[in-house]
Amino acid sequence: MSVSVDERPTTATDAEGAPLDGEHREVIVVGGGQAGLATSWWLRERGVEHVVLEQHGIGHAWRNARWDTFCLVTPNWQCRLPGFPYSGDDPLGFMVRNEIVAYLEAYAGSFDPPLVTGVTVSALLPATAEDPEGARYRLETSAGTLTAGQVVVATGPYHRPTIPRAAERLPADVTQVHSSEYRNPEQLPTGAVLVVGSGQSGAQIAEDLHLAGRRVHLATGSAPRVARFYRGRDCTAWLEDMGHYDLPVDRHPLGEGVRRNKNHYVTGRGGGHDIDLRAFARDGMRLYGRLLDVASTPDGAVVRLGDDLRTNLDRADEVSESIKDGIDRWIDEHGIDAPMEARYEPLWEPADGPGEIDLAAEGIRTVVWAIGFSSSWPWVRLPVFEGSGYPTHERGVTSVPGCYVVGLPWLHTWGSGRFATVGPDAEHVVDRVLALAAPAEEALRGCAAAPDLRESGRVERPRCR
Ligand SMILES: Cc1cc2nc3c(=O)[nH]c(=O)nc-3n(C[C@H](O)[C@H](O)[C@H](O)COP(=O)(O)OP(=O)(O)OC[C@H]3O[C@@H](n4cnc5c(N)ncnc54)[C@H](O)[C@@H]3O)c2cc1C
Repeated sequence: MSVSVDERPTTATDAEGAPLDGEHREVIVVGGGQAGLATSWWLRERGVEHVVLEQHGIGHAWRNARWDTFCLVTPNWQCRLPGFPYSGDDPLGFMVRNEIVAYLEAYAGSFDPPLVTGVTVSALLPATAEDPEGARYRLETSAGTLTAGQVVVATGPYHRPTIPRAAERLPADVTQVHSSEYRNPEQLPTGAVLVVGSGQSGAQIAEDLHLAGRRVHLATGSAPRVARFYRGRDCTAWLEDMGHYDLPVDRHPLGEGVRRNKNHYVTGRGGGHDIDLRAFARDGMRLYGRLLDVASTPDGAVVRLGDDLRTNLDRADEVSESIKDGIDRWIDEHGIDAPMEARYEPLWEPADGPGEIDLAAEGIRTVVWAIGFSSSWPWVRLPVFEGSGYPTHERGVTSVPGCYVVGLPWLHTWGSGRFATVGPDAEHVVDRVLALAAPAEEALRGCAAAPDLRESGRVERPRCR
Protein backbone atom coordinates (compact mmCIF):
# COMPACT_ATOMS: atom_id res chain seq x y z
CA MET A 1 0.00 0.00 0.00
CA SER A 2 1.22 3.51 -0.70
CA VAL A 3 0.42 6.60 1.26
CA SER A 4 0.24 10.20 0.22
CA VAL A 5 2.72 12.45 2.00
CA ASP A 6 0.26 15.21 2.74
CA GLU A 7 -3.31 15.07 3.84
CA ARG A 8 -5.93 15.98 1.28
CA PRO A 9 -6.25 19.69 0.57
CA THR A 10 -8.61 21.50 2.84
CA THR A 11 -11.84 22.92 1.54
CA ALA A 12 -14.82 24.81 2.92
CA THR A 13 -17.20 23.66 0.21
CA ASP A 14 -19.17 20.47 -0.17
CA ALA A 15 -18.42 17.79 -2.76
CA GLU A 16 -20.17 19.82 -5.49
CA GLY A 17 -18.12 22.90 -4.62
CA ALA A 18 -21.01 24.76 -3.01
CA PRO A 19 -20.18 26.84 0.10
CA LEU A 20 -21.21 25.23 3.37
CA ASP A 21 -22.28 28.37 5.20
CA GLY A 22 -26.05 28.39 5.71
CA GLU A 23 -26.49 24.80 4.50
CA HIS A 24 -28.84 22.32 6.15
CA ARG A 25 -28.24 18.56 6.22
CA GLU A 26 -30.44 15.84 7.60
CA VAL A 27 -27.36 14.42 9.36
CA ILE A 28 -23.97 15.96 10.07
CA VAL A 29 -21.14 13.71 11.19
CA VAL A 30 -18.34 15.51 13.04
CA GLY A 31 -14.98 13.79 12.61
CA GLY A 32 -13.59 11.96 9.58
CA GLY A 33 -11.59 9.23 11.33
CA GLN A 34 -12.57 5.59 11.11
CA ALA A 35 -15.68 6.14 13.29
CA GLY A 36 -16.94 9.05 11.17
CA LEU A 37 -16.22 7.20 7.92
CA ALA A 38 -17.93 4.03 9.18
CA THR A 39 -20.98 6.13 10.11
CA SER A 40 -20.95 7.77 6.69
CA TRP A 41 -20.79 4.32 5.05
CA TRP A 42 -23.97 3.24 6.86
CA LEU A 43 -25.72 6.56 6.16
CA ARG A 44 -24.89 6.07 2.47
CA GLU A 45 -26.07 2.48 2.61
CA ARG A 46 -29.41 3.58 4.09
CA GLY A 47 -29.72 6.52 1.69
CA VAL A 48 -29.53 9.30 4.27
CA GLU A 49 -28.38 12.72 3.10
CA HIS A 50 -25.41 13.86 5.20
CA VAL A 51 -22.01 15.51 5.31
CA VAL A 52 -18.89 14.59 7.29
CA LEU A 53 -16.91 17.53 8.65
CA GLU A 54 -13.25 16.85 9.44
CA GLN A 55 -10.92 19.47 10.80
CA HIS A 56 -7.75 17.95 9.35
CA GLY A 57 -7.69 15.11 6.84
CA ILE A 58 -8.24 11.39 6.55
CA GLY A 59 -6.11 9.37 8.96
CA HIS A 60 -4.95 12.49 10.77
CA ALA A 61 -4.43 10.86 14.18
CA TRP A 62 -2.60 7.87 12.72
CA ARG A 63 -0.45 10.07 10.51
CA ASN A 64 0.40 12.80 12.99
CA ALA A 65 0.15 11.38 16.48
CA ARG A 66 2.03 8.08 16.23
CA TRP A 67 5.72 7.21 16.24
CA ASP A 68 7.69 6.07 13.17
CA THR A 69 7.79 2.37 14.03
CA PHE A 70 4.15 2.37 15.12
CA CYS A 71 2.10 -0.61 14.07
CA LEU A 72 -1.26 -1.94 15.09
CA VAL A 73 -1.47 -4.05 18.20
CA THR A 74 -4.58 -5.68 16.79
CA PRO A 75 -4.09 -8.08 13.86
CA ASN A 76 -5.09 -7.00 10.38
CA TRP A 77 -8.04 -9.42 10.22
CA GLN A 78 -9.64 -7.31 12.96
CA CYS A 79 -9.68 -4.31 10.60
CA ARG A 80 -13.22 -4.73 9.40
CA LEU A 81 -14.67 -1.36 8.61
CA PRO A 82 -18.15 -1.71 7.11
CA GLY A 83 -17.99 -2.73 3.48
CA PHE A 84 -14.21 -2.82 3.62
CA PRO A 85 -12.70 -5.70 5.59
CA TYR A 86 -8.92 -6.03 5.38
CA SER A 87 -8.18 -7.78 2.10
CA GLY A 88 -4.38 -7.65 2.01
CA ASP A 89 -2.08 -10.64 1.96
CA ASP A 90 -1.15 -10.52 5.64
CA PRO A 91 -4.31 -10.98 7.74
CA LEU A 92 -2.28 -12.28 10.69
CA GLY A 93 0.13 -9.35 10.50
CA PHE A 94 -0.05 -5.83 11.91
CA MET A 95 -0.26 -2.80 9.65
CA VAL A 96 2.41 -0.17 10.15
CA ARG A 97 1.54 3.50 10.41
CA ASN A 98 1.59 4.34 6.70
CA GLU A 99 -0.39 1.22 5.83
CA ILE A 100 -3.08 2.22 8.33
CA VAL A 101 -3.36 5.66 6.73
CA ALA A 102 -3.48 4.04 3.29
CA TYR A 103 -6.19 1.62 4.49
CA LEU A 104 -8.31 4.58 5.64
CA GLU A 105 -7.70 6.49 2.41
CA ALA A 106 -8.64 3.41 0.39
CA TYR A 107 -11.75 3.01 2.54
CA ALA A 108 -12.85 6.56 1.76
CA GLY A 109 -12.03 5.95 -1.91
CA SER A 110 -14.24 2.84 -1.90
CA PHE A 111 -17.49 4.74 -1.31
CA ASP A 112 -16.60 8.41 -1.79
CA PRO A 113 -18.20 9.81 1.38
CA PRO A 114 -19.50 13.41 1.42
CA LEU A 115 -16.42 14.41 3.41
CA VAL A 116 -15.35 18.01 3.79
CA THR A 117 -11.86 18.40 5.23
CA GLY A 118 -10.32 21.43 6.85
CA VAL A 119 -13.52 22.33 8.70
CA THR A 120 -13.49 22.59 12.50
CA VAL A 121 -16.79 22.49 14.36
CA SER A 122 -16.43 25.04 17.16
CA ALA A 123 -19.96 24.76 18.59
CA LEU A 124 -22.83 22.29 18.45
CA LEU A 125 -25.96 24.00 19.78
CA PRO A 126 -29.72 23.51 19.76
CA ALA A 127 -31.31 25.10 16.69
CA THR A 128 -33.17 28.36 17.13
CA ALA A 129 -36.55 29.53 15.85
CA GLU A 130 -34.79 31.24 12.91
CA ASP A 131 -33.24 27.99 11.71
CA PRO A 132 -34.83 26.03 8.85
CA GLU A 133 -37.65 23.58 9.35
CA GLY A 134 -36.31 20.21 10.45
CA ALA A 135 -33.23 21.69 12.10
CA ARG A 136 -32.62 20.38 15.59
CA TYR A 137 -29.03 21.55 15.72
CA ARG A 138 -26.92 24.46 14.69
CA LEU A 139 -23.20 23.92 14.07
CA GLU A 140 -20.79 26.81 14.10
CA THR A 141 -17.76 25.90 12.04
CA SER A 142 -14.68 27.43 10.49
CA ALA A 143 -16.63 27.31 7.20
CA GLY A 144 -19.71 29.11 8.55
CA THR A 145 -22.91 28.05 10.28
CA LEU A 146 -24.76 24.90 9.28
CA THR A 147 -27.91 23.26 10.62
CA ALA A 148 -28.73 19.59 10.95
CA GLY A 149 -31.66 17.39 11.82
CA GLN A 150 -29.37 14.96 13.63
CA VAL A 151 -25.67 14.93 14.56
CA VAL A 152 -23.17 12.14 15.09
CA VAL A 153 -20.10 13.09 17.11
CA ALA A 154 -17.20 10.90 15.92
CA THR A 155 -14.21 12.82 17.23
CA GLY A 156 -12.55 9.99 19.15
CA PRO A 157 -11.69 9.94 22.85
CA TYR A 158 -8.07 11.12 22.70
CA HIS A 159 -8.33 14.89 22.83
CA ARG A 160 -5.85 16.25 25.34
CA PRO A 161 -2.45 14.71 26.04
CA THR A 162 -2.15 14.06 29.77
CA ILE A 163 0.88 15.68 31.38
CA PRO A 164 0.97 15.98 35.19
CA ARG A 165 1.59 19.29 36.95
CA ALA A 166 4.80 17.78 38.36
CA ALA A 167 6.24 18.29 34.87
CA GLU A 168 6.48 22.00 35.68
CA ARG A 169 9.28 21.21 38.12
CA LEU A 170 11.52 19.53 35.57
CA PRO A 171 14.54 21.65 34.65
CA ALA A 172 14.31 23.63 31.42
CA ASP A 173 17.18 21.65 29.87
CA VAL A 174 15.19 18.40 30.11
CA THR A 175 13.21 17.86 26.91
CA GLN A 176 9.62 16.73 27.49
CA VAL A 177 7.47 15.04 24.87
CA HIS A 178 4.08 13.39 25.10
CA SER A 179 3.73 9.94 23.53
CA SER A 180 1.65 11.54 20.75
CA GLU A 181 4.65 13.74 19.87
CA TYR A 182 7.28 11.01 20.07
CA ARG A 183 8.54 9.96 16.64
CA ASN A 184 11.92 8.21 16.99
CA PRO A 185 15.02 8.04 19.20
CA GLU A 186 16.96 10.45 16.92
CA GLN A 187 14.38 13.17 17.60
CA LEU A 188 15.45 13.24 21.28
CA PRO A 189 18.65 14.73 22.71
CA THR A 190 21.42 12.18 23.25
CA GLY A 191 21.51 10.61 26.68
CA ALA A 192 19.20 8.58 28.83
CA VAL A 193 15.40 8.81 28.63
CA LEU A 194 12.76 8.51 31.35
CA VAL A 195 9.52 7.03 29.97
CA VAL A 196 6.58 7.57 32.31
CA GLY A 197 3.79 5.05 31.85
CA SER A 198 3.77 1.39 30.86
CA GLY A 199 0.48 1.13 28.97
CA GLN A 200 0.45 0.22 25.30
CA SER A 201 2.22 3.40 24.18
CA GLY A 202 4.73 3.65 27.03
CA ALA A 203 5.74 -0.01 26.79
CA GLN A 204 6.21 0.22 23.01
CA ILE A 205 8.10 3.52 23.13
CA ALA A 206 10.36 2.16 25.88
CA GLU A 207 11.06 -0.82 23.63
CA ASP A 208 11.72 1.47 20.64
CA LEU A 209 14.32 3.42 22.62
CA HIS A 210 15.80 0.30 24.20
CA LEU A 211 16.27 -1.37 20.80
CA ALA A 212 18.00 1.80 19.58
CA GLY A 213 20.55 1.43 22.36
CA ARG A 214 19.25 4.21 24.56
CA ARG A 215 19.50 3.93 28.32
CA VAL A 216 15.84 3.75 29.33
CA HIS A 217 14.30 4.36 32.75
CA LEU A 218 10.65 3.27 32.85
CA ALA A 219 8.16 4.38 35.51
CA THR A 220 5.54 1.64 35.41
CA GLY A 221 1.83 1.81 36.08
CA SER A 222 -0.90 -0.75 36.60
CA ALA A 223 -1.62 -1.64 32.95
CA PRO A 224 -2.15 -5.37 32.38
CA ARG A 225 -0.43 -7.35 29.68
CA VAL A 226 -1.39 -10.13 27.32
CA ALA A 227 0.77 -12.68 25.52
CA ARG A 228 0.93 -12.22 21.77
CA PHE A 229 0.69 -15.92 20.94
CA TYR A 230 -0.41 -18.93 22.91
CA ARG A 231 -0.87 -22.53 21.92
CA GLY A 232 -0.23 -21.95 18.27
CA ARG A 233 -2.33 -18.84 17.62
CA ASP A 234 -2.48 -15.13 18.29
CA CYS A 235 -4.35 -14.71 21.59
CA THR A 236 -6.82 -12.40 19.83
CA ALA A 237 -7.83 -15.29 17.55
CA TRP A 238 -8.65 -17.46 20.58
CA LEU A 239 -10.49 -14.57 22.27
CA GLU A 240 -12.49 -13.99 19.09
CA ASP A 241 -13.58 -17.66 19.01
CA MET A 242 -14.42 -17.47 22.72
CA GLY A 243 -16.86 -14.64 22.07
CA HIS A 244 -14.85 -12.22 24.19
CA TYR A 245 -15.19 -9.43 21.65
CA ASP A 246 -18.98 -9.83 21.45
CA LEU A 247 -19.52 -9.22 25.18
CA PRO A 248 -21.46 -5.97 25.53
CA VAL A 249 -20.74 -3.50 28.28
CA ASP A 250 -24.05 -4.16 30.02
CA ARG A 251 -23.15 -7.85 30.43
CA HIS A 252 -19.53 -7.23 31.40
CA PRO A 253 -18.76 -8.02 35.08
CA LEU A 254 -17.39 -4.48 35.51
CA GLY A 255 -20.34 -2.87 33.73
CA GLU A 256 -19.57 0.63 32.53
CA GLY A 257 -16.49 0.55 34.80
CA VAL A 258 -14.76 -1.43 32.04
CA ARG A 259 -14.55 1.84 30.08
CA ARG A 260 -11.89 2.98 32.56
CA ASN A 261 -9.80 -0.19 32.14
CA LYS A 262 -6.28 0.19 30.85
CA ASN A 263 -5.33 -1.54 27.61
CA HIS A 264 -3.15 -4.65 27.78
CA TYR A 265 0.38 -4.08 26.58
CA VAL A 266 1.75 -6.25 23.78
CA THR A 267 3.09 -5.37 20.35
CA GLY A 268 2.61 -6.14 16.67
CA ARG A 269 6.15 -5.02 15.85
CA GLY A 270 8.17 -7.33 13.62
CA GLY A 271 5.24 -9.75 13.25
CA GLY A 272 4.22 -9.47 16.88
CA HIS A 273 5.68 -10.50 20.22
CA ASP A 274 5.13 -10.14 23.96
CA ILE A 275 6.35 -7.10 25.81
CA ASP A 276 7.98 -8.48 28.92
CA LEU A 277 9.26 -5.64 31.06
CA ARG A 278 11.22 -8.11 33.19
CA ALA A 279 13.18 -9.10 30.07
CA PHE A 280 13.90 -5.44 29.40
CA ALA A 281 15.17 -5.07 32.98
CA ARG A 282 17.38 -8.13 32.61
CA ASP A 283 18.82 -6.48 29.49
CA GLY A 284 19.58 -3.17 31.17
CA MET A 285 16.40 -1.11 31.28
CA ARG A 286 15.78 0.44 34.69
CA LEU A 287 12.26 -0.16 36.01
CA TYR A 288 10.48 1.73 38.79
CA GLY A 289 7.04 2.04 40.35
CA ARG A 290 4.67 4.84 39.41
CA LEU A 291 5.89 8.42 39.29
CA LEU A 292 4.88 10.18 42.51
CA ASP A 293 6.50 13.57 42.30
CA VAL A 294 9.26 15.73 40.92
CA ALA A 295 11.33 17.82 43.32
CA SER A 296 13.55 20.64 42.12
CA THR A 297 17.14 20.55 43.39
CA PRO A 298 20.05 22.97 42.95
CA ASP A 299 21.46 20.63 40.25
CA GLY A 300 18.19 19.88 38.46
CA ALA A 301 15.47 17.60 39.74
CA VAL A 302 14.84 14.37 41.57
CA VAL A 303 11.96 12.15 40.48
CA ARG A 304 10.27 10.17 43.26
CA LEU A 305 8.74 6.83 42.42
CA GLY A 306 6.35 4.52 44.24
CA ASP A 307 7.06 1.13 45.79
CA ASP A 308 4.59 -0.65 43.50
CA LEU A 309 6.96 -1.99 40.82
CA ARG A 310 6.74 -5.58 42.07
CA THR A 311 2.95 -5.34 42.26
CA ASN A 312 2.71 -3.83 38.78
CA LEU A 313 4.84 -6.58 37.23
CA ASP A 314 3.12 -9.38 39.15
CA ARG A 315 -0.39 -8.16 38.29
CA ALA A 316 0.44 -7.70 34.61
CA ASP A 317 1.74 -11.29 34.52
CA GLU A 318 -1.28 -12.58 36.45
CA VAL A 319 -3.64 -11.06 33.90
CA SER A 320 -1.65 -12.52 31.03
CA GLU A 321 -1.65 -15.96 32.65
CA SER A 322 -5.36 -15.77 33.48
CA ILE A 323 -6.10 -15.13 29.80
CA LYS A 324 -4.11 -18.27 29.01
CA ASP A 325 -6.15 -20.17 31.65
CA GLY A 326 -9.31 -19.15 29.79
CA ILE A 327 -7.83 -20.26 26.47
CA ASP A 328 -6.84 -23.63 28.01
CA ARG A 329 -10.38 -24.14 29.28
CA TRP A 330 -11.82 -23.29 25.88
CA ILE A 331 -9.46 -25.73 24.16
CA ASP A 332 -10.36 -28.50 26.63
CA GLU A 333 -14.11 -27.90 26.48
CA HIS A 334 -14.12 -27.95 22.69
CA GLY A 335 -11.65 -30.79 22.25
CA ILE A 336 -9.40 -28.64 20.07
CA ASP A 337 -6.11 -30.07 18.92
CA ALA A 338 -3.69 -27.29 19.86
CA PRO A 339 0.00 -27.60 20.72
CA MET A 340 0.88 -27.46 24.43
CA GLU A 341 2.93 -24.51 25.58
CA ALA A 342 4.96 -23.94 28.73
CA ARG A 343 3.71 -21.18 30.99
CA TYR A 344 5.57 -17.95 31.66
CA GLU A 345 8.31 -17.94 34.26
CA PRO A 346 9.35 -14.51 35.58
CA LEU A 347 12.82 -13.70 34.30
CA TRP A 348 13.72 -11.02 36.77
CA GLU A 349 12.60 -9.76 40.17
CA PRO A 350 12.82 -6.16 41.35
CA ALA A 351 14.21 -4.94 44.64
CA ASP A 352 11.47 -3.74 46.98
CA GLY A 353 10.98 -0.17 48.08
CA PRO A 354 10.41 3.24 46.57
CA GLY A 355 12.77 4.64 44.00
CA GLU A 356 14.35 7.96 43.31
CA ILE A 357 16.09 9.21 40.20
CA ASP A 358 18.45 12.14 40.16
CA LEU A 359 18.05 13.17 36.53
CA ALA A 360 21.44 14.86 36.17
CA ALA A 361 23.31 12.01 37.87
CA GLU A 362 21.65 9.46 35.53
CA GLY A 363 22.24 11.59 32.43
CA ILE A 364 18.50 11.76 31.70
CA ARG A 365 17.87 14.56 29.21
CA THR A 366 14.39 13.58 28.05
CA VAL A 367 11.11 12.63 29.69
CA VAL A 368 8.46 10.92 27.53
CA TRP A 369 5.01 11.23 29.08
CA ALA A 370 3.04 8.13 28.11
CA ILE A 371 0.16 8.35 30.57
CA GLY A 372 -2.61 8.79 28.06
CA PHE A 373 -5.13 11.40 27.06
CA SER A 374 -8.24 12.96 28.47
CA SER A 375 -11.51 13.44 26.61
CA SER A 376 -13.06 16.84 26.24
CA TRP A 377 -15.95 18.06 24.12
CA PRO A 378 -16.22 21.77 25.09
CA TRP A 379 -17.74 22.57 21.69
CA VAL A 380 -20.69 20.22 22.32
CA ARG A 381 -23.05 22.61 24.08
CA LEU A 382 -25.86 20.14 24.68
CA PRO A 383 -26.92 18.52 27.97
CA VAL A 384 -25.45 15.13 27.12
CA PHE A 385 -22.68 14.88 29.72
CA GLU A 386 -22.59 13.36 33.19
CA GLY A 387 -20.56 14.81 36.08
CA SER A 388 -17.17 13.60 34.89
CA GLY A 389 -17.70 15.02 31.41
CA TYR A 390 -18.40 11.67 29.72
CA PRO A 391 -21.40 11.65 27.38
CA THR A 392 -24.38 9.73 28.74
CA HIS A 393 -25.45 7.28 26.09
CA GLU A 394 -26.73 3.81 25.38
CA ARG A 395 -24.66 2.35 22.60
CA GLY A 396 -24.00 5.83 21.24
CA VAL A 397 -27.56 7.13 21.52
CA THR A 398 -27.38 10.08 23.91
CA SER A 399 -30.12 11.42 26.13
CA VAL A 400 -30.69 14.30 23.68
CA PRO A 401 -32.83 13.22 20.69
CA GLY A 402 -30.89 13.23 17.45
CA CYS A 403 -27.41 13.47 19.03
CA TYR A 404 -25.14 10.44 18.91
CA VAL A 405 -21.55 9.43 19.68
CA VAL A 406 -19.57 6.74 17.86
CA GLY A 407 -16.05 5.40 18.32
CA LEU A 408 -15.56 5.60 22.08
CA PRO A 409 -13.77 2.70 23.82
CA TRP A 410 -16.29 0.18 25.12
CA LEU A 411 -19.14 2.27 23.71
CA HIS A 412 -20.75 -1.17 23.39
CA THR A 413 -18.02 -3.82 23.15
CA TRP A 414 -14.23 -4.11 23.37
CA GLY A 415 -13.82 -3.19 19.73
CA SER A 416 -16.08 -0.11 19.73
CA GLY A 417 -13.12 2.27 19.87
CA ARG A 418 -11.09 0.16 17.48
CA PHE A 419 -11.22 -1.00 13.90
CA ALA A 420 -12.78 -4.25 15.05
CA THR A 421 -16.38 -3.29 15.85
CA VAL A 422 -16.84 0.43 15.30
CA GLY A 423 -18.85 -0.63 12.22
CA PRO A 424 -21.73 -2.40 14.03
CA ASP A 425 -22.01 0.53 16.46
CA ALA A 426 -22.20 2.94 13.52
CA GLU A 427 -24.94 0.77 11.98
CA HIS A 428 -26.86 0.79 15.27
CA VAL A 429 -26.67 4.58 15.49
CA VAL A 430 -27.71 5.02 11.86
CA ASP A 431 -30.73 2.79 12.51
CA ARG A 432 -31.65 5.12 15.40
CA VAL A 433 -31.23 8.09 13.07
CA LEU A 434 -33.72 6.49 10.71
CA ALA A 435 -36.08 5.56 13.53
CA LEU A 436 -36.17 9.16 14.72
CA ALA A 437 -36.75 10.42 11.19
CA ALA A 438 -39.46 7.81 10.48
CA PRO A 439 -42.23 9.12 12.78
CA ALA A 440 -41.84 12.51 11.16
CA GLU A 441 -42.21 10.87 7.75
CA GLU A 442 -45.32 9.07 8.97
CA ALA A 443 -46.66 12.32 10.36
CA LEU A 444 -45.95 14.07 7.09
CA ARG A 445 -47.97 11.44 5.26
CA GLY A 446 -50.80 12.25 7.66
CA CYS A 447 -50.24 15.93 6.96
CA ALA A 448 -51.73 15.58 3.50
CA ALA A 449 -55.06 15.40 5.29
CA ALA A 450 -54.09 17.94 7.94
CA PRO A 451 -52.03 20.68 6.25
CA ASP A 452 -52.28 22.96 9.28
CA LEU A 453 -50.00 20.56 11.22
CA ARG A 454 -47.31 20.82 8.54
CA GLU A 455 -47.60 24.59 8.49
CA SER A 456 -47.36 24.82 12.27
CA GLY A 457 -43.72 23.74 11.97
CA ARG A 458 -44.21 21.12 14.68
CA VAL A 459 -43.35 18.32 12.27
CA GLU A 460 -39.73 17.94 11.33
CA ARG A 461 -39.26 17.12 7.69
CA PRO A 462 -36.75 14.31 7.17
CA ARG A 463 -34.40 14.89 4.27
CA CYS A 464 -33.44 11.35 3.49
CA ARG A 465 -32.60 10.56 -0.07
C1 LIG B 1 -1.52 4.98 20.53
C2 LIG B 1 -2.78 4.33 20.03
C3 LIG B 1 -2.73 3.05 19.49
C4 LIG B 1 -3.89 2.43 19.01
N1 LIG B 1 -3.78 1.17 18.47
C5 LIG B 1 -4.89 0.59 17.97
C6 LIG B 1 -4.81 -0.71 17.38
O1 LIG B 1 -3.77 -1.37 17.35
N2 LIG B 1 -5.95 -1.24 16.84
C7 LIG B 1 -7.14 -0.57 16.85
O2 LIG B 1 -8.12 -1.09 16.31
N3 LIG B 1 -7.24 0.63 17.46
C8 LIG B 1 -6.17 1.23 18.02
N4 LIG B 1 -6.27 2.46 18.61
C9 LIG B 1 -7.61 3.01 18.88
C10 LIG B 1 -8.35 3.65 17.69
O3 LIG B 1 -8.39 2.80 16.58
C11 LIG B 1 -7.76 4.99 17.29
O4 LIG B 1 -7.72 5.85 18.40
C12 LIG B 1 -8.56 5.65 16.17
O5 LIG B 1 -7.85 6.79 15.75
C13 LIG B 1 -9.96 6.05 16.62
O6 LIG B 1 -10.70 6.48 15.50
P1 LIG B 1 -11.83 7.59 15.63
O7 LIG B 1 -12.37 7.83 14.28
O8 LIG B 1 -12.77 7.21 16.71
O9 LIG B 1 -11.05 8.87 16.17
P2 LIG B 1 -9.91 9.70 15.45
O10 LIG B 1 -9.05 8.85 14.60
O11 LIG B 1 -9.26 10.50 16.52
O12 LIG B 1 -10.73 10.65 14.47
C14 LIG B 1 -11.49 11.74 14.96
C15 LIG B 1 -11.40 12.83 13.94
O13 LIG B 1 -12.22 13.90 14.38
C16 LIG B 1 -11.62 15.11 13.99
N5 LIG B 1 -12.15 16.16 14.86
C17 LIG B 1 -11.99 16.28 16.21
N6 LIG B 1 -12.65 17.35 16.67
C18 LIG B 1 -13.23 17.95 15.60
C19 LIG B 1 -14.04 19.10 15.44
N7 LIG B 1 -14.39 19.85 16.50
N8 LIG B 1 -14.46 19.43 14.20
C20 LIG B 1 -14.13 18.64 13.13
N9 LIG B 1 -13.36 17.54 13.23
C21 LIG B 1 -12.92 17.19 14.45
C22 LIG B 1 -10.13 14.86 14.17
O14 LIG B 1 -9.35 15.71 13.35
C23 LIG B 1 -10.00 13.39 13.78
O15 LIG B 1 -9.56 13.20 12.46
C24 LIG B 1 -5.13 3.10 19.09
C25 LIG B 1 -5.19 4.39 19.65
C26 LIG B 1 -4.03 4.99 20.11
C27 LIG B 1 -4.12 6.38 20.72
